Amino acid sequence: MLKTIAGFDRIGEENAFAVLARATELTGQGRDIINLGIGQPDFKTPAHIVEAAIKALQDGHHGYTPATGIAPLREAVSADLLKRHGTETDPGQVLIVPGGKVTMYMAILMFGEAGTEILYPDPGFPIYRSMIEFTGARPVPVPIREENDFAFSAEETLSLITDKTRLLILNSPANPTGGVTPRSEIEKLVSGLEKHPNVAVLSDEIYSQMTYDGMEHVSLLQFPSLRDRLILLDGWSKTYAMTGWRIGFSLWPEQLIDKARKLAVNAWSCVNAPTQYAALAALEGPQDAVIDMVAQFDARRSVIVNGLNAIDGITCRTPRGAFYAYPNIQETGWKAKELASALLEDVGVATIGGPDFGILGEGYVRLSYANSTENIKIALDRVKDYVETNS
Ligand code: PLP
Repeated sequence: MLKTIAGFDRIGEENAFAVLARATELTGQGRDIINLGIGQPDFKTPAHIVEAAIKALQDGHHGYTPATGIAPLREAVSADLLKRHGTETDPGQVLIVPGGKVTMYMAILMFGEAGTEILYPDPGFPIYRSMIEFTGARPVPVPIREENDFAFSAEETLSLITDKTRLLILNSPANPTGGVTPRSEIEKLVSGLEKHPNVAVLSDEIYSQMTYDGMEHVSLLQFPSLRDRLILLDGWSKTYAMTGWRIGFSLWPEQLIDKARKLAVNAWSCVNAPTQYAALAALEGPQDAVIDMVAQFDARRSVIVNGLNAIDGITCRTPRGAFYAYPNIQETGWKAKELASALLEDVGVATIGGPDFGILGEGYVRLSYANSTENIKIALDRVKDYVETNS
């Protein structure tokens, strides 16, 4: 019997991948499945980005690159952060990583160990808790409440900090709720964090370019008091429809960038070269495709929210960011995971049950509206019919 470390008794998963596998299997059996489960844009990567990768291959970029990423890409990331958040950053503190997820993996590995605590949003991206558990740190959920429009509460977050807290994970716009934390609340949080200088902050801003109704995305990068302890997670997956390319970026405090670089050298050496050139083209090229995608998500958002609110027993707040609707299904009498599973098996609509995002997820289901309006409408008809007949 092989004996591996205890972390594997605690590590979790991202159930969206299991739902994707099942949905693909059912499609393979000839079933008509509409996938509102996995969180990825249904658009293709814009053509000029694909062409940049092909050109990089043709130009002979086939070898290793620096572990931190090619210099022009790190410079382009800094320029992009300046343009979007108005903050100067040092390209020397940028790390190019194989997907946004890798930044959370690294940051949690860097701070988590037995005897420490890490705060993370609940409901939230499932990998936060999974990785915290893996390290042996105590996962401390920060409740993200419907009555607070799924924004972080500064007061509640700060009240959970103890002398064991090493890392606070924030995520806005948020998965799975679509909640966006307003500037006033972020300012309160940042000013409270000034009393806790030993707590690092991981700000997951992977949906930073997806906000609606004039709602502002406030980057934690804008707060000088956090700069020497902020790890910023962002990337190309959602913004440029590049989930399968596996590339993201992070910005590390001066004190941590070399540790992050060493982890990169130990684990993956560098992100594949053509993908880095594609990411460069994404940042330096025209941004019309991003604007167009966000406009389409916005239009679909109204369709899905109105459709969900028209179902007996379901209420859905209007999400202000990302591309997820997170309806409350408590009045239907269904358990969330059972409903998600029944919708997939019985009427061919893939969704994710709220408990896959945390303890506070019971009573909610996540539906991604990164699908065509036509498919969303068909899915909503199926869900309405099924829920109203079976509640
Ligand atoms: N952070 C959040 C909140 C996400 O929802 C996701 C993807 O679903 C990621 C990070 C990871 O993105 P990537 O595909 O770039 O690893």
